[in-house]
Amino acid sequence: LSADKLAKDTVANIKDTDKKLNAWITVLDDAKPAEKLDFSKSKLAGIPIAIKDNIITNGVKTTAASHILYNYMPMYDATVISKLKKAGVTFVGKTNMDEFAMGSSTEHSYFGATHNPWNLDKVPGGSSGGSAAAVAGGQVVAALGSDTGGSIRQPAAFNGIFGIKPTYGRVSRWGLIAFGSSLDQIGVMTKRVKDSAEVLNVIAGADEHDSTVSTREVPDFTKFIGQDVKGLRVAVPKEYMEAVDGKMREVIQKQIDALKDAGAIINEVSLPHTKYVVPDYYIIASSEASSNLQRYDGIRYGYRAKDTKNLLDVYVKSRSEGFGAEVKRRIMLGSFALSAGSYDRFFRQAAKVRTLICDDFDKIFAENDVIVGPTTTEPAFGIGEEVSDPIKMYNNDILTISANLAGIPAASVPAGLVDGMPVGLQIMAKRFDEGNVFKTADFIERSN
Ligand code: GLN
Repeated sequence: LSADKLAKDTVANIKDTDKKLNAWITVLDDAKPAEKLDFSKSKLAGIPIAIKDNIITNGVKTTAASHILYNYMPMYDATVISKLKKAGVTFVGKTNMDEFAMGSSTEHSYFGATHNPWNLDKVPGGSSGGSAAAVAGGQVVAALGSDTGGSIRQPAAFNGIFGIKPTYGRVSRWGLIAFGSSLDQIGVMTKRVKDSAEVLNVIAGADEHDSTVSTREVPDFTKFIGQDVKGLRVAVPKEYMEAVDGKMREVIQKQIDALKDAGAIINEVSLPHTKYVVPDYYIIASSEASSNLQRYDGIRYGYRAKDTKNLLDVYVKSRSEGFGAEVKRRIMLGSFALSAGSYDRFFRQAAKVRTLICDDFDKIFAENDVIVGPTTTEPAFGIGEEVSDPIKMYNNDILTISANLAGIPAASVPAGLVDGMPVGLQIMAKRFDEGNVFKTADFIERSN
């Protein structure tokens, strides 16, 4: 099989299967492998990869699934894209998502909802739902996603694939369309754990364009594959196990038992601030979003309203017509939390609570290597079922958002089925310890 043929077949298969899934916003008809492929140097040479549509790609439309960027054609590549280009990957297009990555179902997209390949009536999760469906549906072997509060791990869980959000600062955010800058992180979604390690090897590491990326050395993540878990100290937060119902708990417990049987040490622990993480996250993420989204003014990028009377009218109409309902809700929430009268009561308070949440994790990691538990409270829900109830949708994120608030690496690995739909085991470790996350996930993959 030549890389050329692989690119062509991949595009043809996407065109065919995507009529049902709607996992893509842009498919590159003329997708071609890089000019010079060096198979001896790069494991990713000639491999087709999907890119979430909030990652900037030179000369390829990048929309963040928003009307306000529906025609935005970037003139540069995100750092992760430049790195993947150097490794010789084949770009086949851009995947669907919730607008500006705000959502948990990929229903908030200007380009329509994505469907879950396991059951087309169910959501694929979000916001990286297009990337997850593309991998689970067999369209590509790997996809990039972004995770601000669970947007890689929750769709990975809902689609029965692996997804990892690395440590905040492990991967450059340069060229990632900003949502919550203190929480956002680019990561990888694949069927096999090892494939994610290969991709993370390429995209991780220092970048002069992003001052928040760590300059510490990036280990070869594939060396954590195939290890045994004997002596691994595994913490299980009781709040996470209590958040799920009996069927779900049974599937998760089975994985914990497998770790125990293999010689891991299981410790029940507590994350006492779990009950505050949803409001805490939604104040912080929305505040940062309201600031980051100021730049969409109808002048510099994308959509501009017609029939406007003056400059203010351009701003107001372009933003009113360009942003979807969920994005507007976040901008209003964030602007309110940051306003003079509420800053102390909301934003400052939320920042303090965030510190308490970080302390909870530090205490656990002083005595444990990883934390495991369910990724989500339930398997994929139906399309249309929760989209009109934002509070319900937000509460779904209770198990994933803490890792973003604390900046720690976290992944979801397939754990089994509940009512015929996949669910995930979440694995977290201390900052820059993706190694133990890979080691644990790979063990779970092998034991299933
Ligand atoms: N579901 C969360 C939200 O709506 C997380 C999204 C994300 O991680 N990008 O904000």
